[in-house]
Amino acid sequence: MVNCLWCDAQINEALTITNFYARPVLICEACDDALQQCKIQTKACCTTCLKPISDNQSQCMDCAMLAKRYQRINQLYCNFQYKGMMKAVLQQYKFNRDYVLCTLIARYIQLPRMHYDYIIPIPSHSSRDRWRTFNPVTAVLACMHVKYTNCLTMQYDRKQSSLTKRQRLSQPNPFIITADLDFTNKNILLVDDIYTTGITVHQAACKFFVRKIRKFDVFTFAR
Ligand SMILES: [Zn+2]
Ligand SMILES: [Zn+2]
Repeated sequence: MVNCLWCDAQINEALTITNFYARPVLICEACDDALQQCKIQTKACCTTCLKPISDNQSQCMDCAMLAKRYQRINQLYCNFQYKGMMKAVLQQYKFNRDYVLCTLIARYIQLPRMHYDYIIPIPSHSSRDRWRTFNPVTAVLACMHVKYTNCLTMQYDRKQSSLTKRQRLSQPNPFIITADLDFTNKNILLVDDIYTTGITVHQAACKFFVRKIRKFDVFTFAR
């Protein structure tokens, strides 16, 4: 007998020959349903960033605005909307420092099945990781046994939640590449937890575009 990692309800899973070798169930059926409700339906979404848009558009306003300022990322990959249970899970994980939830997030998300030369986590400012005692992005990647390269540093804290979009755009780029790697012609996948305005990932992308990379994709846990 196990309990749901999220709601603590008892999970009665009869042991059969088919599930004997399967990975143990983490959450109950009701919580699984609630998470499935948050999945992104890719119809009527911006082709680049998956934001819901009306049928007669192909690109959203956010992407149009980003294009004025930044070289654009190739594609955002993301399985979940930042709403409902997924939002609650991510908030509990990040802000209440509930480390064990990294296993739940790792179980439900799906990285794009393409070859990348480098899978690069977005760093948090070191003071935030110290407070949280773990990095929310790398903890999930480690759970998924994904080989990642820590090569970015955030020089100062973003504190973006309190800023307007205009203020965010005028902030200096907080990222620097700290590893001595050759990115020429490389395919890069940047990983962040939540995609909101896209400004953060585009600031990070700037640092790689000048290194003559081939492709820059982004994956986030939710958007
Ligand atoms: Zn549950
Ligand atoms: Zn878009």
